[in-house]
Amino acid sequence: MNLLITGAGRGLGLQLTKLALERGHTVIACMREIADATEGLLNLAAQYDDQLRIERLNVTHEDEAAQLAARLAKDNVKLHGIINNAGILLGREHTIETLPIHLMRLTFDVNVFGPVIVAKHFSPLLADDAGAVVLNISSEAGSMANAYGGDYPYAMSKTTLNMFSKQLKNTLWKRGVRVLAIHPGWIKTDMGGQSAPMEAAESAGGIMDIAEGKTTIADELVFVDHTGRSMPL
Ligand code: NDP
Repeated sequence: MNLLITGAGRGLGLQLTKLALERGHTVIACMREIADATEGLLNLAAQYDDQLRIERLNVTHEDEAAQLAARLAKDNVKLHGIINNAGILLGREHTIETLPIHLMRLTFDVNVFGPVIVAKHFSPLLADDAGAVVLNISSEAGSMANAYGGDYPYAMSKTTLNMFSKQLKNTLWKRGVRVLAIHPGWIKTDMGGQSAPMEAAESAGGIMDIAEGKTTIADELVFVDHTGRSMPL
C-alpha cells in the first residue's frame, strides 16, 4: 500500500509510519515543518530510504496541500490510504465563561478543516477499486455518548470530523474507497500523557490492520475504535 499520513513526526503518526514501513508499505509522511523532523522519523528515513518520502504539510494550509498533491500527481503516485492523524487539543481547562473563542477556531482549523483540505486535494489520487481507505483519527470525546462536559473545542471538532467522515463515505464508496472515523484509544503521547493505559504502537497496530482490510467492519459503520469495534456517534 502507498499511504499518506499527516502529523507523522511524533505520537501516533510516527508509530503508524514506523509500523507501515515495517509491514512493507510505502509512506508519504507529512510534517508541519520538515526542519522539525524528529529523531524517530530521521531514523526511519535512514532505515527505509526507498519506502519513505517525507513531505511538508501543515494541514491548515490549503496551498501546501494543493502543491503537494500536484507534485504527487506529476510523479504518477497512486494512494491506497490517507490517514488524517494530525490533531490538537486545546482549551480543556476552560469553562464556557472563560473559553477564548480563538481556541475554538484554531482547533476546528486543524481537526476539521485540516482533514477536509487533505481529502479535497488527495482523494483524487486514491486508487479506484483497490480497497483504498481514508481513516480520520477521531476521538471518543466527539461521541454524543461521552459523559463528561466542558471539552468544547476538542469534543465539538471531533464530532464534526465524524460527520465529515459520514459525508465523505457516502460519496467515496462509489469509487470503492472505505472511509472511517477511528477512536485510537487513550494512548501515551504528548497529547495523551504518560498516564494513558495504552502504548501508541498498540493502537497503530489496530489502525494498520483496519487500513489493510484485516479487520472485519460492517459496511454501515462510520465510527469505530482501533480494534474495529463500533463507537456510538
Ligand atoms: P500529539 O500531540 O502527540 O501529536 C500531534 C501531531 O499532529 C504532531 O505530529 C503535530 O505536528 C501534528 N499537527 C498538529 N497540528 C498540525 C498542523 N496544523 N499540520 C500538520 N500537523 C499538525 O497527538 P497524538 O499523536 O496523541 O494524536 C494523534 C491523533 O489521535 C489526533 O488526531 C488526536 O486527536 C487523536 N487522539 C489521541 C488520543 C490520545 O490519547 N493521545 C485519544 C484520542 C484521539 P508537530 O510535531 O509539528 O506539532
